[in-house]
Amino acid sequence: MFTPAELLEINTLLKPENKIVILTHYNPDGDAIGSSLGLKHYLKAKGILAEVIVPNDFPKFLKWMPESKKVIIAEYKKKLASDMIAGADVIFCLDFNAPSRIGLLGDWLVKAQGKKILIDHHQQPEQFDYVYSDTVIPATSQMIYHFIEVMDDEKLVDQDVAECLYTGIMTDTGGFRFRSTSAATHRIIANLIEKGADPAMITSNTWDTNTVSRLHLLALILGRIEVVNEGTVAVLSLTRNELKEYGFQKGDTEGFVNYGLSIAGVKMAAFFMEDLYENFIKISFRSKDDVDVNQFSRKYFSGGGHINAAGGKSYDSLAGTIENFKQYIGKEEFLNMK
Ligand code: 5GP
Ligand code: MN
Repeated sequence: MFTPAELLEINTLLKPENKIVILTHYNPDGDAIGSSLGLKHYLKAKGILAEVIVPNDFPKFLKWMPESKKVIIAEYKKKLASDMIAGADVIFCLDFNAPSRIGLLGDWLVKAQGKKILIDHHQQPEQFDYVYSDTVIPATSQMIYHFIEVMDDEKLVDQDVAECLYTGIMTDTGGFRFRSTSAATHRIIANLIEKGADPAMITSNTWDTNTVSRLHLLALILGRIEVVNEGTVAVLSLTRNELKEYGFQKGDTEGFVNYGLSIAGVKMAAFFMEDLYENFIKISFRSKDDVDVNQFSRKYFSGGGHINAAGGKSYDSLAGTIENFKQYIGKEEFLNMK
């Protein structure tokens, strides 16, 4: 948490006459949007206006959240977004650890003069004016709740705040399943339900929204899942042509990598997908126990994230990338795969 002295300073920054923006990471997920909108609604309840700016568009299954339609998507509104960041007195940076994680917003953030406040749970955060970083907490949305607690503002948590934070915690814990889900997480979830978050509505709006194209893509990928490294590593992949053929939409492949990890004996799953427009492979890693995919992705695929969930990139061909990947896992002792 921020120190008491930092909290005093942050408190003086949070006043109605200050311009406040909230930024989050490229390809925003449930926690990115949930924490950003949750903070926005909390500030609104305090009488302070803030705008959420994201680098690129986010999936439809997150667009039911209160004021999700007002999120400024920088790839469509470059001038507005860059002017707002340049003119901001306070810039909240949520659910990312480095300017390189926010696409075109990164340069604008680095040049901006406003006070930069980081709230994030990824490994190895870079420099910001105020940093609340905790890699043990399963979701940035949970950290927003802790921030509201230390500000002594739990009374300001209304239904909008509750729905957004609930969604962020639910999605980043994989439905309250992943390792860092704690008693504190569940206590906060209980509070959010009391404040008006409806678990059935939120789950159904977020997760029961499969498109036929997504299910067909899933069938395709499951049909050729490969298990290597003596049954410990699952490999999944999709080509650009397949994405086109199935009418891929943003978010359609969310969660696919988890099917690899659900195989008995598998400790690491990797999902390789050709980008629809640009020439690179987007990689998602998931793992169990102390198999550190953050370190692995940083070392080999210019990526990072968390110990058990990380992402990365490759500029090789799909087949070449997968071939290299298989070589790397064979030789890395720190993966503790045995
Ligand atoms: P996903 O596989 O869902 O894209 O990402 C898993 C986790 O790793 C998320 O917390 C995400 O923010 C992080 N992540 C994804 N891609 C990258 C990347 O290229 N670099 C870094 N540093 N983190 C990433
Ligand atoms: Mn997160």
